[in-house]
Amino acid sequence: MGRKLLIEHINVPGINTLEVYRQKGGYRAVEKALKTMSPDDVVEEVKKSGLRGRGGAGFPTGMKWSFLAKPEGVPRYLVCNADESEPGTFKDRHLMTYIPHALIEGMIISSYALGANVSYIYVRGEMMPQIRILEKAIAEAKNAGFLGKNILGSGYDLELYVQPGGGAYICGEETALIESLEGKRGNPRIKPPFPAIAGLYNCPTVVNNVESIAATVPIINDGGEEYAKIGVGRSTGTKLISASGNINKPGVYEIELGVPVEEFIYSDEYCGGIANGKRLKAVVAGGSSVPILPANLVMKTANGENRLMTYESLADGGFATGTMMGSGGFIVFDEDQCIVRNTWNFSRFYHHESCGQCSPCREGTGWMEKVLHRLEYGHGKLSDIDLLVDVSKKIEGNTICPLGDAAAWPVASAIRHFRDEFEWHVKEPMKSQSTNYGLANYAKPIEKAVAAEEK
Ligand code: SF4
Repeated sequence: MGRKLLIEHINVPGINTLEVYRQKGGYRAVEKALKTMSPDDVVEEVKKSGLRGRGGAGFPTGMKWSFLAKPEGVPRYLVCNADESEPGTFKDRHLMTYIPHALIEGMIISSYALGANVSYIYVRGEMMPQIRILEKAIAEAKNAGFLGKNILGSGYDLELYVQPGGGAYICGEETALIESLEGKRGNPRIKPPFPAIAGLYNCPTVVNNVESIAATVPIINDGGEEYAKIGVGRSTGTKLISASGNINKPGVYEIELGVPVEEFIYSDEYCGGIANGKRLKAVVAGGSSVPILPANLVMKTANGENRLMTYESLADGGFATGTMMGSGGFIVFDEDQCIVRNTWNFSRFYHHESCGQCSPCREGTGWMEKVLHRLEYGHGKLSDIDLLVDVSKKIEGNTICPLGDAAAWPVASAIRHFRDEFEWHVKEPMKSQSTNYGLANYAKPIEKAVAAEEK
């Protein structure tokens, strides 16, 4: 069994309350940080831990913190990005629902390290139960003296607020989130300046993911070096993975980084294998915005090499083509899944969520959705496949924010690995629709939704 640093006590009754959380060692890290460490010491421990942002980008957290500008007399802010909206990703929601104090404890430690006296948790607007859970937990922490003025007699003050999100996927992009938090439409900003220089209310700001912030608790408790001993290479510590799709045991798992992908899918400790004894067809390893991996790039190679659940191995690791760890939204497709239909489904999402500021994303996502729709519904041409590749290339790297890349990569990678299946949809339009799992099963609700939209 791998070590659990974040959700070890998740099944303990009452762990969502301050009392039980403290019985399990909660808020020891806050006491240690505020009573025995300077803010710079905390930053140093996080740097030593090698912790990388768990929201998707994988940027080293300690380094991100060290970029924060510290002009005299100007407030600094920490904002927790809890706008988890990536299709296939639900691990932050899990953490906030069951162990809200882990996030609050991490917020206190991280705010202290950054010198922030006001911090925000920006929660996806649809997550009303989690918003209420966090507000209750914040009230408990404040009553116990972990928030407010002169926390634990340290002289450090912190007010922590929960802000419901604006209801758009794009508000998970850090500058769009900041705009939304300021009460504006959540449009991503052109960078530079980066939030570390001019973020919330034009002041230096760090935006970190829920899991990254919660990970500071074991880092302070055990020390950065201990944390860095877990994992492989530059992928240190543990990671929450939300597993879904055609597997026997969907759910949220905490893994030590470095578990082989094949083991993650097939072992009983994690996904428990493919449902109904079917074969694996493909995996989306890090949420819908990362390139798709076909089964042959997931399973052990002929010479026994494993692709690992690490940032590096998923990106390449000596394999011919790569993907990303992303947000840890691990979606498994069995042999009956239709790649064209699933790609179209992702494209519909990104077209709908594009904020419309840049032409390649606004127009390109619309074109990709339309072309994939006609391929799926038997009206496509062979030239459509190259057209999709062309459109995805024109989007990639040419937009203000990463949503453009997120929309382009699934399409480009699906065609790279499953071109035959795209061609089959053109050559056998009736057969491809009538024999795939997608149309027979989960596609029906989608078709109903499309029909309703078209009305
Ligand atoms: Fe908006 Fe898309 Fe441009 Fe991002 S890439 S700023 S979502 S139009």
